[in-house]
Amino acid sequence: MGPTIKLSSGYEMPQVGFGLWKVDNATCADTVYNAIKAGYRLFDGACDYGNEKECGEGVARAIKEGLVTREDLFITSKLWPVFEDGDKVEPACRRSLSDWGLEYFDLYLIHFPGALKYVDPAVRYPPGWHFDGKSQIVRSSTPMHVTWAAMEGLVTNKLARSIGVSNFQAQLLYDMLRYAKIPPAALQIEHHPYLVQKELVSLCKAEGIAVTAYSSFGPASFLEFGFKHAEAMVPLMQDELITGIAARHGKEPSQVLLRWATQRGLAVIPKTSRPAVLAQNLECTGFDLEQDEIDKIFAKDMGIRFNQPSNYFDTDKMWIFG
Ligand code: NAD
Repeated sequence: MGPTIKLSSGYEMPQVGFGLWKVDNATCADTVYNAIKAGYRLFDGACDYGNEKECGEGVARAIKEGLVTREDLFITSKLWPVFEDGDKVEPACRRSLSDWGLEYFDLYLIHFPGALKYVDPAVRYPPGWHFDGKSQIVRSSTPMHVTWAAMEGLVTNKLARSIGVSNFQAQLLYDMLRYAKIPPAALQIEHHPYLVQKELVSLCKAEGIAVTAYSSFGPASFLEFGFKHAEAMVPLMQDELITGIAARHGKEPSQVLLRWATQRGLAVIPKTSRPAVLAQNLECTGFDLEQDEIDKIFAKDMGIRFNQPSNYFDTDKMWIFG
């Protein structure tokens, strides 16, 4: 087992894991199985990724063949905003557990703050952002403290060992910390040299909240959506500073990007299905960057966020109902 991060819940979370967003259904079971074989123990899934059944198949095969036990693995899933009403949280978690074929999640996160109107899984699953499956964004009136109390119920009922949040900013975390009986164990955020989130990471350190970085390669993950602000950026793996540091250490640029985050104490969850790259990404903690290299990477910060919900909406046509 590689390096781990101790969560406030008392459980250990592997520092390097495997991200499951956009892993297509046809190859997902094999990808998860191969990643376990390559040594990955943390898998970062979500209802929204639409592949939880296939992820579970990969896990089941690895367990059946004796590669790992359930206890060796650390499996994360996430609550989608249409399930943030208090009485919808546990059924949503149970649906994800049943798709994975698991009895508990190691970590269950609120995927995004801001409850949306409930969509019955019988109507559409995963539900996506739009109430009608096309263009309507419809708010629910549920405030965060109600959702969080239901998340705490998942720990009480042993459906989740640790609970946390994703895509939350400092203000909402500060608010939650005032009422949470179980404080969030982890925060998952977009994090790369174009978005370094210094203050948010400091706040989490001070409050004992583990931080997981997603989209560690920055714009690379968002080109397929045709995002103009992703296309306009120099790809981080071709950036002169990053390739220069990589050459100096005899490493890949991708490993420098992952090491910069892990040396900051963050967990990372890169995704790839290429076997050589799988191993490379997992081996990103076996060397250290110099302080001046770390500082130079920090200096690339531009505050650019690619995974903004509004980037996925046609805001001209979007209707918001209270
Ligand atoms: P990523 O940064 O892991 O990958 C981006 C692209 O880089 C992919 O196309 C991948 O094939 C490629 N890649 C991976 N390793 C490489 C390497 N060593 N060399 C060259 N190319 C490489 O992007 P991501 O998928 O956006 O983020 C990782 C994970 O984070 C996701 O799979 C998901 O689990 C999680 N995530 C969470 C949220 C959230 O809202 N909580 C949002 C986005 C992603």
